[in-house]
Amino acid sequence: MEKHQFQTEVNQLLDLIIHSLYSHKEIFLRELVSNSSDAIDKLKYLTLTDDRFKTLPFEPRIDIEFDDEKQETLTVTDSGIGMNREELIEQLGTIAHSGTKNFLSQLSADGKKDSNLIGQFGVGFYSAFMVADKVEVETRKAGEEQAYRWSSDGRGEYEIAEIEMEKPGTRVTLFLSEEGKEFASRWKVEEIVKKYSNHIAFPIFLHYTKTEYDDKGKEKSKTPTVDQINTANALWKRPKSELKEEDYNEFYKTLAHDTEDPLLYLHTHAEGTLEYTTLFYIPKQAPFDMYQVDYRPGVKLYIRRVFITDDEKELMPPYLRFLRGVIDSEDLPLNVSREILQHNRVLANIKSSSVKKVLGELQRLALEEPDTYIEFIKQYNRPLKEGLYSDFGNRDTLLELVRYKSSSEEGYTSLAAYKERMLPDQKAIYYITGGDEKTLRNSPLLEAYRAKKIEVLIMDDDIDEIVIPSIGTYKETQLKPVNRSDAGEDLKDGEDKEKEKEAQPVIEKIKRALGERVKDVVISVRLADSPSCIVLDENDPSMQMQQLFKAMGQSEMPEIKPILEVNPNHPIVTRLRDIEDEDFINDISVLLLDQALLVEGSQVADPADFVKRLNKMLARL
Ligand code: ADP
Repeated sequence: MEKHQFQTEVNQLLDLIIHSLYSHKEIFLRELVSNSSDAIDKLKYLTLTDDRFKTLPFEPRIDIEFDDEKQETLTVTDSGIGMNREELIEQLGTIAHSGTKNFLSQLSADGKKDSNLIGQFGVGFYSAFMVADKVEVETRKAGEEQAYRWSSDGRGEYEIAEIEMEKPGTRVTLFLSEEGKEFASRWKVEEIVKKYSNHIAFPIFLHYTKTEYDDKGKEKSKTPTVDQINTANALWKRPKSELKEEDYNEFYKTLAHDTEDPLLYLHTHAEGTLEYTTLFYIPKQAPFDMYQVDYRPGVKLYIRRVFITDDEKELMPPYLRFLRGVIDSEDLPLNVSREILQHNRVLANIKSSSVKKVLGELQRLALEEPDTYIEFIKQYNRPLKEGLYSDFGNRDTLLELVRYKSSSEEGYTSLAAYKERMLPDQKAIYYITGGDEKTLRNSPLLEAYRAKKIEVLIMDDDIDEIVIPSIGTYKETQLKPVNRSDAGEDLKDGEDKEKEKEAQPVIEKIKRALGERVKDVVISVRLADSPSCIVLDENDPSMQMQQLFKAMGQSEMPEIKPILEVNPNHPIVTRLRDIEDEDFINDISVLLLDQALLVEGSQVADPADFVKRLNKMLARL
């Protein structure tokens, strides 16, 4: 017998499960059954594809037993692939997946705020400790002789001992705690299995004692009984007409380890040149690891109902990585290698039709159930925007699906709705990027647009700035950033020429004073209340982008200088006309530049210098 310590993260996870999932105690059974089902899936695959296993007697089944007298134990036994010593240590003593680890470390830092997400990463096996004081796992790996018993009370340590087992498979015994006793009941187990595991593709048998009574109500006989309690067919293979929303929802919870119903499901049987079935779900809450590079893919691949993999990121495009579900193909050979999977024409076909289906369903949702669609957008707007960039073929559809905030509308708007609201002579769709929502809404660049009642899209997602320029137009209308030098087109009117002439001498003064600090100083047509603002040459990256590049260590980037726009009607600017004091002009010019940088959310070049000049001005008052 050997003693081992749990990895720190396992202890954290155990702690979290016990404290945040106690109102969902019953899911422990769903998790154990789902592990058993996965294990049988794996062995089934080997018996079909690997010569060493083809002759192995294999009867896929899951058995649940409990002692109804004392209510002390509950066991779940499967004829699956089993685990050897190394796997026991690896799978039940550590958390191998770094995404889960990261998530856990963040959690402990800022409390339990995301505790409803923890179901999603498959609390799995450890949930057994919600109902048990001690858990034993007896297991023998298929193809190996030696069996092992793993046992733990879930408090930091576990033990592994060698034992003998006749057949490969795994038997998990829970020594029920006070809170767990209620689960040593025929009705309870049957209820939970029906609810969550009815469509597990293998038979689940419940062992219990049937008691019979005579007509006087006296106990007549006690018979040990075994009943199959699930329907044991792959849910996705059943005709849609036979399935109720509830069936779909419960299947989802087992599949995605979620405690909530999904936001949406989409079930497709395709026949014709290719025959396959897909069942996709969108979780209500975005998966916790959606923004991690090593996120876990959520779509499982089956071939003629045999499980092939749940670890293939290319089954669906990365921007749809929040999808959960199943692809089951009739046309692929069972032993496809990973390399073949990635370049397979059949799969590529299924993938592209599936993407179209999913996007089509989202369009329907946006149209018919706008409130639900906004729920969707709140979680998944950003991955869809990645799609704008990466999925050229579906760009037009994606452009209809993404949503943006707006200077004149509440909530979110679509590009189509913006276009409908455009003024009769408005030439472009205007947007502002490069900062958080508040900074953007307060930007002086918006003043003149507001005055002319031109709507501006507030694009506060960091990827907007990269994605939108790559799109260029929406249905023949140009998308124009307001912080670019040429975006003022719609704002100009006849008086401007006159004003420009008048203000030219002032502009020259400021230009001389600022010298190398700016690319140019020009008269602004877009400012109403503010004296100055920063714009960029059409193709230059924004100030925020430049700072981002710098932060990423790209110091070699040539410095890109801003263009200073000056409001010719502002009192500060009009006063400059009559001033000749070089020093004074200098101070004002630098302050005009620095304040424009500040409202834009950028840093001033030299804060001490800024304050010094400001104080000098104040003193002059
Ligand atoms: P998950 O199922 O999400 O991977 P679990 O904590 O439930 O997380 O299980 C961890 C791992 O332990 C599984 O991935 C599997 O490799 C192994 N495992 C758990 N239960 C069984 C079982 N009944 N048979 C074989 N392997 C199992």
